[in-house]
Amino acid sequence: MASPLTVVSVSAEVTPWSKVGGLADVAAALPVALAGRGHHVIGVAPRYQEYDHAWDTQRTARFGLFGQMLEVRYFHARIGQVDRIFVDHPVLRRGGIYGDHNGSYPDNLLRFALLSRAAMEAPYSVGLQMPPDGADTIYLAHDWHAALVPLYLAARYRAHGSRTRARSILAIHNMAHQGVYGRGDFGGLDLEPRWWSTLEMGGNMNLLKGGIMAADRLTTVSPRYAWEIRTAEGGFGLDGVLRLRGPVVQGVLNGLDTVEWDPATDPHLPARYDVRDLSGKATCKAALQQELGLPVDPAAPLVGFVGRLDWQKGVDLLVEAIPWLRSQGAQVVVLGSGSPDLEDALRRVAGPTVRPWIGFSGPLAHRVTAGCDILVVPSRFEPCGLTQLQAMRYGTVPVVAATGGLVDTVSVYDPLSQDGTGWHFHPGQTHDLVLALGNALHTLRHWPDSFRGIVRRGMARDWSWERPAAEYETLMRVALGQ
Ligand code: ADP
Repeated sequence: MASPLTVVSVSAEVTPWSKVGGLADVAAALPVALAGRGHHVIGVAPRYQEYDHAWDTQRTARFGLFGQMLEVRYFHARIGQVDRIFVDHPVLRRGGIYGDHNGSYPDNLLRFALLSRAAMEAPYSVGLQMPPDGADTIYLAHDWHAALVPLYLAARYRAHGSRTRARSILAIHNMAHQGVYGRGDFGGLDLEPRWWSTLEMGGNMNLLKGGIMAADRLTTVSPRYAWEIRTAEGGFGLDGVLRLRGPVVQGVLNGLDTVEWDPATDPHLPARYDVRDLSGKATCKAALQQELGLPVDPAAPLVGFVGRLDWQKGVDLLVEAIPWLRSQGAQVVVLGSGSPDLEDALRRVAGPTVRPWIGFSGPLAHRVTAGCDILVVPSRFEPCGLTQLQAMRYGTVPVVAATGGLVDTVSVYDPLSQDGTGWHFHPGQTHDLVLALGNALHTLRHWPDSFRGIVRRGMARDWSWERPAAEYETLMRVALGQ
């Protein structure tokens, strides 16, 4: 039998302790699923504030970065079968994860370099049992914030004869965020000068590029995105580097936390339901209409959006489509926060049948997902996307831009074969979004049996982490040469 693996997963966010987007969900659920397969998984993330259950191990470690000696303290929680270690230091303890109303924190490079350095020592400092020489050990780094992990493993450990058998994987959740800094900052990272070329991109220092070059293997969150990031449109300047590393890039479709997202048990819902009995969904719709001050009308199609208000997410397309939706007698609910411009645009289109809810609320995200008939995901690009998975699981039909993971997860409804789980439209094209919404509304109103079929097929799909975890395990064994 193959030996169990030791996996150190490093991320800037992890649900439920810290979350901005889907990265946090993955960093929470993938370790649990891997542990369920018998592996020892250690999730490392910053301690942005005090967390219940995570106890102070009193263990510390010191790292020289940017001309300072920084002492971190490790907090530890063992939840289920997963060890969670939180790195504590004043530069990490902030209200926001990446920034505040003034924008990104100016010392993010220092903060995430410290996370990466400290993560390398975290399991050892806390006293967890680690295999000798890094045998059977994978460092799984998520996004640019942890992209120095593969570099530190290569440069500070393997190059010096320690943890020589350990391997690293960089998981890319979004190419748009790369961690770009000036050349002058390289000196602060505690790397020998010969590693500069690994990080250099167009004269600047690019942390994601460094991780792409240094990691033993690369994953991204859907097969389609694995292809897109090797094109000029999707690579955000790193497509050439990714083509170079093409043979080690693999897309693994994200799963969904099917315990947190289960309409049959969800504590945030006023009524529960499942694929056999959908009556509770109608109750959820009426309760949502009431909660948001919409007319309580079962016949009015309720169209929703949940997500960051960002150019990537294409919320502006939805804003443009709102007058048309209103003209069709549809109601609209938008839950999100982010760019002040988009928040203002949403406030401007608000009305008796259009309800923007600006802010972040997990419970409301559940109620919107359950209460709507249709969920729109109008992203310009979308590495995987979770809200369409949440929607399908909750019997809410997704209308999605045909990009990235949205293509891999939502199949187009075909009235002839009565197949498919939603509708696609051309990314960035409002008129095409309106056409797709028109098809969805027409089917909902005039072909209710067909619409119910779409609902049921979406609910019946298996979105759990079991398949992705098995794929990750295969990849990790390949990385280790097993
Ligand atoms: P991204 O990671 O690009 O933000 P994803 O679709 O992969 O997008 O993941 C977004 C996650 O964050 C989903 O779980 C979604 O339900 C949640 N989410 C996004 N915005 C909000 C919000 N305003 N309130 C609550 N949950 C939100």
